[in-house]
Amino acid sequence: KPIQIRCCVAAGCLSADSLAVKQRLERVVAETGLGDKVQVCGVGCMRLCSQGPLVQVAESTLYEKVTPKDAPAIVATIDTDGEMFHETSLHETSLQRGDLTQPFFTQQMPIVLENSGKVDPERIESYIAAEGYRGLYHVLHEMQPNEVVEAIAQSGLRGRGGAGYPTGLKWATVAKAKGERKYVICNADEGDPGAFMDRSVLESDPHRVLEGMAIAAYAIGANQGYIYVRAEYPTAISRLQIAIRQAQRLGLLGSQIFDSPFDFKIDIRIGAGAYVCGEETALMASIEGKRGLPSPRPPYPAESGLWKNPTLINNVETFANIAPIIRKGADWFASIGTAKSKGTKVFALAGKIRNTGLIEVPMGTTLQQIVEQMGGGVPGGGVAKAVQTGGPSGGCIPASAFDTPVDYESLAQLGSMMGSGGMIVMDESTNMVDVARFFMEFCMDESCGKCIPCRVGTVQLHRLLTKIRQGEASLTDLELLEELCDMVKNTSLCGLGQSAPNPVLSTLRYFRDEYLTLVDGSA
Ligand code: SF4
Repeated sequence: KPIQIRCCVAAGCLSADSLAVKQRLERVVAETGLGDKVQVCGVGCMRLCSQGPLVQVAESTLYEKVTPKDAPAIVATIDTDGEMFHETSLHETSLQRGDLTQPFFTQQMPIVLENSGKVDPERIESYIAAEGYRGLYHVLHEMQPNEVVEAIAQSGLRGRGGAGYPTGLKWATVAKAKGERKYVICNADEGDPGAFMDRSVLESDPHRVLEGMAIAAYAIGANQGYIYVRAEYPTAISRLQIAIRQAQRLGLLGSQIFDSPFDFKIDIRIGAGAYVCGEETALMASIEGKRGLPSPRPPYPAESGLWKNPTLINNVETFANIAPIIRKGADWFASIGTAKSKGTKVFALAGKIRNTGLIEVPMGTTLQQIVEQMGGGVPGGGVAKAVQTGGPSGGCIPASAFDTPVDYESLAQLGSMMGSGGMIVMDESTNMVDVARFFMEFCMDESCGKCIPCRVGTVQLHRLLTKIRQGEASLTDLELLEELCDMVKNTSLCGLGQSAPNPVLSTLRYFRDEYLTLVDGSA
């Protein structure tokens, strides 16, 4: 078996020119005659994005911030038998060794990311060699659709898109619903500032998402699926297109999959950058070719969704969990996590933190562990002040609550939410009114304008926050801010407006002093 030199070709490393590194490695391997002993592979995200381009040799050696000039030194660490690793040859190079034994890696539990950094996202053979499509084969030959729904329910998996609705219950509702046709939609319209989990999964392991969708389609009785992915993710789109073509060619998508009577086709729909299209009713309107505007619910998509047919919508990470649950069993999955939040969660760790990148941890891991141990704390010895989870719909959790286990209920109790998985760390230099204002500006810009509380309310909230930040507000303005938050939260039509005040409310709850020092006469 040839020794592998893996080069990350996911977005983070690509933006640091990892493709040039990979090409140079390939040339050097060819020139040194090691072609039959060493294999250079492009692989998905290796997770420690801040240190890219990342290159891993075999299982044990990681190199960080690699440049094309480093390629000869990396190849020189492998002897002519293609096996040995010569530590000594590193001494005279500028190669930067990464530490695979640091908590950032060792405290992770990769389920969704089990293949990231290992398989070549553009080669279906690579996925199949990692047990890919085994779950789909198993359900088609060994399980009835209702048994698949039951297994997902038993696993305790909850939707990873934000709200945490039980996945098995959603599947059961769509399976029972009456309709001429049924649809499966993968929501890949990831748009929260600081969130890049779904992008990474699609770029690193696209077949995992296709397999999860196919299993879901079999379970609920659908023959057509759509992946709604944002246009800003061109690498993810291209890898999905390649993956769909490859799966069709091998009979893993299309008609009579694995020689069974089950037919399932997946098409891609590309979103045009409207954040609100991540809301499921707006997303479906967009797939139908209409303007992406939310509609009141009920009816829920499970009963009347795409073209008024029963429709199952889950996000990328939810589908990415399905194949391992089928392969390893519902009980295995249910044994991970907390009483009500099972399995793992992928977070995009960003902001004032040493280790920026992707982490996947069991539910129930504390924020302290994530920020201080895995994230390595604030660079330069600074002190973490808060963590923002859940994007514009979430909230800021103060450092005093970092011993909180990360699960759906605990985060909600703190006035934040799990959201899709963006986690932004802030240090003492961050002004929390600025944070609230940033997220409000985002919601104001992204409001679709359909309902007045959100269309006008977000503008007024942003105006008040600006006034406070500029030191021109009074205590009456602060009261007005809170009243308006309440009104926008309770009367907006969709989740965007209903959750837009959350960053303001959570910063008011935990960092009220920062508002008061800015309000006229209260310093
Ligand atoms: Fe549009 Fe905002 Fe109303 Fe949602 S809450 S429908 S985004 S205006």
